[in-house]
Amino acid sequence: MGSRQVTTASDWQNKRVTVAGLGVSGISAARALAGLGASVTVVDGGDSETHRATAAELAQLGVAAQLGDAETLPDGTELVVTSPGWKPSSPLFAAAAEAGVDVVGDVEIAWRLRGPGAAPWLAITGTNGKTTTTQMLASILEAAGLRTAAVGNIGTPIIDVVLEGDDAYDVFAVELSSYQLHWAPSLRAHSAAVLNLAPDHLDWHGSMEAYAADKGRIYEGNQVACVYNVDATDKPSTEDLVREADVEEGCRAIGFTLGTPGPSQLGVVDGILVDRAFVDNRHKNAQELAEVADIDPPAPHNIANALAAAALARAFGVEPAAVRDGLRAFTPDAHRIAHVADVDAVAYVDDSKATNTHAAEASLAAYESIVWIAGGLAKGASFDELVTKSAKRLRGVVLFGQDRALIREALARHAPEVPVVDLDRTDTGAMSQAVQEAARLARPGDTVLMAPACASMDMFTNYNKRGDAFAEAVRELGSTSV
Ligand code: ADP
Repeated sequence: MGSRQVTTASDWQNKRVTVAGLGVSGISAARALAGLGASVTVVDGGDSETHRATAAELAQLGVAAQLGDAETLPDGTELVVTSPGWKPSSPLFAAAAEAGVDVVGDVEIAWRLRGPGAAPWLAITGTNGKTTTTQMLASILEAAGLRTAAVGNIGTPIIDVVLEGDDAYDVFAVELSSYQLHWAPSLRAHSAAVLNLAPDHLDWHGSMEAYAADKGRIYEGNQVACVYNVDATDKPSTEDLVREADVEEGCRAIGFTLGTPGPSQLGVVDGILVDRAFVDNRHKNAQELAEVADIDPPAPHNIANALAAAALARAFGVEPAAVRDGLRAFTPDAHRIAHVADVDAVAYVDDSKATNTHAAEASLAAYESIVWIAGGLAKGASFDELVTKSAKRLRGVVLFGQDRALIREALARHAPEVPVVDLDRTDTGAMSQAVQEAARLARPGDTVLMAPACASMDMFTNYNKRGDAFAEAVRELGSTSV
């Protein structure tokens, strides 16, 4: 159906491409394809000053724009390149299907633009931990002396990096969202990992099955290793996705676990990260890679991320010492279990990036006695499981934000003895009050953990701003308590 796969630059000459969405990836795709001689039209439902200014810049490259109308497929379109956020149900795609025109994403375009000698991709997806794991992997690859970049759902647009040429890099660490995988049908990674799988973005995908199927696409055509999470056994498991994938001959399923690794697995033994997959069995059956203490922060979920990154690096032939050096050199991005300060022997930790229950569950599992600050936009989530699993660690809870009643009710059902302060407010200043309330509940040795399990947009511009507000409130607290 529609266009055949385009593999050489000359195939783009005069090809009529519609780019859906004037965001970072859309602009990158429009520029790149216009540069290759395609006849490009960008489509966006918005028609603001910013949209018009961007369209005017692109016009200088010969790119046409259709602003204020995200539904009409421009006449003669031969291929649609969509931005990741556009839902499969968008009317533009229905029009494309009607016209027999393929819809792909920027990752697919990047994949098609690679030359024959291009750097292989080590790909990572999962509900949580993608960015961290991709950065850990890039750090390990760098420590091994390889020329690499962390790309995909992170950093410089992937098309721009690929267009630097086949000789510029040895290997890429590629973070892929489920949206990007949905729109990248011909991607074939050297090796890939699905870190974990929990319900998220179901409004976009339509169902858990469809979400899992899109995540599972990352394994299609893998050459060396399909890396899965041994400990994540909920169905469908990441191992199920490996089983369903069509891979190259000789490609292996490699598990990672926080427990003792079996054959073809990486795991943890007595505080040491151990590889039982990429070892020469004639000489030894396990290889030490690094210590748990080399990982920052050494929280269980983050050790899992490190194991997944190590598995991909080992699949690419990286030596154990480089795995250790790369993990040691890695520091997490802001707002991901960031230790902000200790005030009166209580640790204050910012995990604003915990925007869903799965992420919050991981960080709650990392501390023994917690005053938990939570709330915001629940995005349809249920909090029963999170509260049940975390109840015994909770000294107290402070709630704010639009959907806080959902968390309060789950606490009343599963942890009625835990004191809850419900701040009936959704304004930005609520953070300062939340931190003060948390300080009142905390005892020396406790951790005040802001891992809201919700999106931030009811109160803040984004999770970065929410984390900054927390850090500011902790600073205020510190200055008043001394
Ligand atoms: P992503 O790129 O998938 O959003 P990040 O690395 O940015 O993931 O981390 C997002 C959030 O998920 C953070 O709050 C972090 O604490 C939590 N997290 C990180 N890794 C994991 C994991 N393996 N399992 C569960 N939660 C995780």
